[in-house]
Order: sequence, then structure tokens, then C-alpha cells
Amino acid sequence: MLGNIRIVLVNTTHPGNIGGVARAMKNMGLSDLSLVKPKKFPHADALARASGAGDLLDQARVVETLDEALADCHLVVGTSARSRTIPWPLVNPRELAAIVAPLPQATRVAIVFGREDRGLTNEELQRCHQHVHIPVDEQFSSLNLAAAVQVITYELRMAKEFDISAAKPCWGTEWDVELAESRELELMFDHLEQTLTEIEFLDPQKPRNLMPRLRRLFLRAVPDKIEVNVLRGMLSAIQKRCRD
Ligand code: SAH
Repeated sequence: MLGNIRIVLVNTTHPGNIGGVARAMKNMGLSDLSLVKPKKFPHADALARASGAGDLLDQARVVETLDEALADCHLVVGTSARSRTIPWPLVNPRELAAIVAPLPQATRVAIVFGREDRGLTNEELQRCHQHVHIPVDEQFSSLNLAAAVQVITYELRMAKEFDISAAKPCWGTEWDVELAESRELELMFDHLEQTLTEIEFLDPQKPRNLMPRLRRLFLRAVPDKIEVNVLRGMLSAIQKRCRD
């Protein structure tokens, strides 16, 4: 149960928070924890705050880049305490749970949490299909990291236990082809950026917000593996024509 959901912590400063996250996850029945470049880990404070969830810390995957943490995930959700320059599809934790709960077990979902002081960068948030924001008092909008994980994983558990699901399942639940994984999407975006530069539609000196906007467009569609192949085939054909 909930085994297909990965919690990803980016650049966590306080090891105690990592322990708190492990505890919150284990309470709700999640076990897949990835740590992107934690400042201090392993650490006694992490173990102390984890209480009985030290096993999750032992199993946690420590990686150097967010890419590595997300590579095999079909759906990536970013958490954000405040709104950003380019708005992204946004849900609250209950809505997220209603979307995620009915997904087939084989669909791997990553939920990404940011640094204690700065959250996630815009670039990191633009890697995500969807953003989730926990409704809070606007004057004091930032939760402790482990508290944020607790709220979101609680909603995921509620949706599973009480069979709460979105009225209309989305995100490939009734789909014929497996959804593209994050690594395939990133290769497609690299290919798109390269092609747009080659045809001089994108000026690398003045990229403006072209790539973030195109990312948002394609990620909103949640493309599957065949769709990504078709798009890349089109890009290759364009490149071939230009190079001839
Ligand atoms: N000061 C940072 C917030 C960091 S809190 C900022 O302004 O962005 C650390 C992390 O906890 C965030 O990156 C996010 O993953 C999570 N978090 C905290 N409050 C949240 C909220 N209201 N909604 C969603 N995630 C939240």
C-alpha cells in the first residue's frame, strides 16, 4: 500500500528533519525515501527524530542530483509554500490524494520537498507535472518540512483507506500505453531546446521563459512513451531537414 510513492527531499539542512520525515512516512505506510545531497546524513539527530523509523533511514537512497532521484518516476509532484513567477497546475493535498490513489501500482509517483530556508528553485519546480500547496495562513505560509510531509502523506493514506478517488480519473489510469518516465521527458526537453536553438527560434543569449512555458505545456498533457517517441521523431526530422 502506497509503495509506489517516493518522497524526495532536496538539500535538507537539518538531519533532525530527515528523521522526522522518516517517522511521518512510516506512520502513513510509505517507505521509499530519496535524499538529494543532504547537508548532514547519516547523523545521530536523524536517528533520534526517526524514533522507530530508523529502518527507513537505513534504506534511504542518497543521490547527487534531483535527476537521479526522479529518473524512473512517471509522475512528479513538487511542493511549494508560496506561489512562483510562472503559475503551474496546482492542487491541495486532498485533491492530490484523489488523483494519486486510483493510479495503478505500477505508476511510480515522486513528491519533492525543498530546503528549509529556500524551498525548491524555480528550475526544480519546473521539473514537475503538478504542484501541491498546503493551504495555510498567508501571513505564515511555511510549514516545518516533516510537518508538510505528514500532512500530504496523511491525505494519501486517507484516500487509499477510504477509497476516495477523483470523480474522473486522470493521469493515465485508463491508458493503453505506459506513461513516459521523468528521464525520458528530460531527454525530450533537451532535444526540444537543441532543435529550437538550431532553427533559431530560441536564442540562448535571451531564452526568456520559452522553455519553462513549453515544459508546462507538455507536462500538463502527461505524455506517454509513444507520444514522447513521436515528438522526438518530429524533432529529429526537423533537425535533419535543417542540416541537409
Ligand atoms: N522558506 C521556504 C519554505 C521552506 S519549508 C519557501 O519560502 O519556499 C521546506 C519545505 O516544506 C518546502 O520546500 C516544501 O517542500 C514544504 N512546505 C512547507 N510549507 C508548505 C506548504 N504550505 N505547502 C506545501 N509544501 C510546504
